[in-house]
Amino acid sequence: MDFAGVEKEIERVIVSEQELQAKVRELAARIDKDYQGKDLLLIGVLKGAVMAMADLSRAMNRHVDMDWMAVSSYGSGTKSSGVVRILKDLDRDITGRNVLIVEDIVDSGLTLSWLKANLESRGAASVEILSILRKPAAAKVMVDVKYVGFEIPPDFVVGYGLDFDEKYRNLPFIAVLAKHMYS
Ligand code: 5GP
Repeated sequence: MDFAGVEKEIERVIVSEQELQAKVRELAARIDKDYQGKDLLLIGVLKGAVMAMADLSRAMNRHVDMDWMAVSSYGSGTKSSGVVRILKDLDRDITGRNVLIVEDIVDSGLTLSWLKANLESRGAASVEILSILRKPAAAKVMVDVKYVGFEIPPDFVVGYGLDFDEKYRNLPFIAVLAKHMYS
């Protein structure tokens, strides 16, 4: 690892780069099959889903459209607020489209259940969710995530798009942030 000093800032790696890449390829193959012969619009949730979107879309063997939304959730803290605000909306109308939301992590599920309802209300033909990570222990809202990469414990994690104060997004693995970094 050539990220100077990062070993002191993380507690442990919970999903390695190889595991992530293998899982993304597996999910891409499932999606190719499920949406065969159908139109597909991937909607990435900025900024955390950038890595997942880039890897997933390139692992697919079909044409896809991509659009992006940015919603506020955490700020620079480590607890979900439940207050969702659109910071950047979609560029195009999604009426009649098959939408797949690409998300980095589902924690309380508040952000995704709000987003799913919001996109359905715009007349999409279908709205499904892919999340690279899910923290089942923290589920306050039942949200149906069709494609899940890994179930992880309720620790605060960084890497593969996930940040702490805008740092660590470019780590190619998922790691638990050391408690001394934020307490
Ligand atoms: P939820 O509404 O499901 O509680 O929170 C979803 C959002 O919170 C995610 O899109 C992500 O931005 C942020 N989040 C939740 N858990 C973590 C975590 O462990 N690490 C980081 N960096 N962000 C998280």
